[in-house]
Amino acid sequence: MSAAPPWLAWERAHVWHPYSTLQDPPPVFAVESAAGVRLRLADGRELIDGMASWWSAIHGYNHPALNAAVEDQLGRMAHVMFGGLTHAPAARLAEILVEVTPAGLEHVFFADSGSVAVEVAIKMALQYRAARGEHGRRRLLTLRGGYHGDTFGAMAVCDPVTGMHGLFRGVLPEHVFVPRPEVRFGAPWDAADIEPLVAAVDAHGEELAAVILEPVVQGAGGMWFYHPEYLAAVRRVCDAAGLLLIADEIATGFGRSGALFACDHAGIAPDILCLGKGLTGGYMTLAATLTNAHVADTICGAEPGVFMHGPTFMANPLACAVARASIELLLADDWAAEVGRIERRLAAGLAPCRALPQVADVRVLGAIGVVELHQPVDMRVVPQAFVDRGVWVRPFGRLVYVMPPYVTDDADLDTLCSAIGAVVDGLPVP
Ligand code: PMP
Repeated sequence: MSAAPPWLAWERAHVWHPYSTLQDPPPVFAVESAAGVRLRLADGRELIDGMASWWSAIHGYNHPALNAAVEDQLGRMAHVMFGGLTHAPAARLAEILVEVTPAGLEHVFFADSGSVAVEVAIKMALQYRAARGEHGRRRLLTLRGGYHGDTFGAMAVCDPVTGMHGLFRGVLPEHVFVPRPEVRFGAPWDAADIEPLVAAVDAHGEELAAVILEPVVQGAGGMWFYHPEYLAAVRRVCDAAGLLLIADEIATGFGRSGALFACDHAGIAPDILCLGKGLTGGYMTLAATLTNAHVADTICGAEPGVFMHGPTFMANPLACAVARASIELLLADDWAAEVGRIERRLAAGLAPCRALPQVADVRVLGAIGVVELHQPVDMRVVPQAFVDRGVWVRPFGRLVYVMPPYVTDDADLDTLCSAIGAVVDGLPVP
């Protein structure tokens, strides 16, 4: 094992990490390289990656086909502005997105990150209302326990308690929230679950532009898996009330929940769909917001006649090229079989955690495994404990969870699960 890299101490004092402090920050681990499902630390240790870099590295790291796509594109051009110019990588990516996403989504807006894709989706819904002269319909309806990103528009539809609404009160627009769905994925459906949403639409329908939600899997807001019938019911309610449905599949897209898109569990198509994270196989930041002809035609058919968004790095060619290659790779493999294998292995491997007094719940869906604890973990201690066991698992709050790359083999899945069992077993008993 070699020593910590010389720049690490300076970096810790000067560089912000996600949701972190600069005053005596918790440890960060320097990664030198990554290949397959292994992260190689600067000190020579190797970790099995349980996080797929926050849902994104679905094929693992340093994949030859994805590297080749980037290198090939790099030889032509790394970037070119998208205003007035276009390129094959954007066209070819849009084409495959329209093909694989739920029916009717045929127009694509490329954004720089998941949060921006959500901003774009919200803006589409608001421009749609403005185009129809429905200026009173400016609020969104969403679910508690949701997470949609860290920019202001996205934050406003995150869970009001965990989503920093207190900190930014008076700045964030105030939207309408309903309780999160209670019926779990796999449990018998109970139609009463949809009643709070129906009541909220009855009460606020005239001021609502759209419903926005994470279909079936609520990610960073609580790692909660709800019944697809809820989603199907939301679609029906939206249709009856003339509301647009925005599905944020930034975390769930590209197979993670066991369906190619979580909307597929319910057999529904949203009016607006947000994609990100796994879109580029985790290679670089890119997101997309898709919509149907009705929304696009409405926006473009009224003043100002254009959609009002256009970031500098829109449709970055490197990102588009690797995204197309990643989707082709996914479809060429039997991704559903691999995700199903991971689901069974995680379910078996995490089941013993149920017996631990620290554990409130264990749930698995697709390639997502969650151990919910009674108490939040100490982030100065727990990530280090996982590293000491040769795995990369980064919990948040009361949730210890994994969403490994789809190429993770059974032996590595077992190591991840046994590390979780051992680390949780070592936590204080509440
Ligand atoms: N929506 C969902 C469902 C997400 O999980 C995330 C990221 N965790 C975002 C939006 C925001 O994406 P980004 O971090 O790329 O801005």
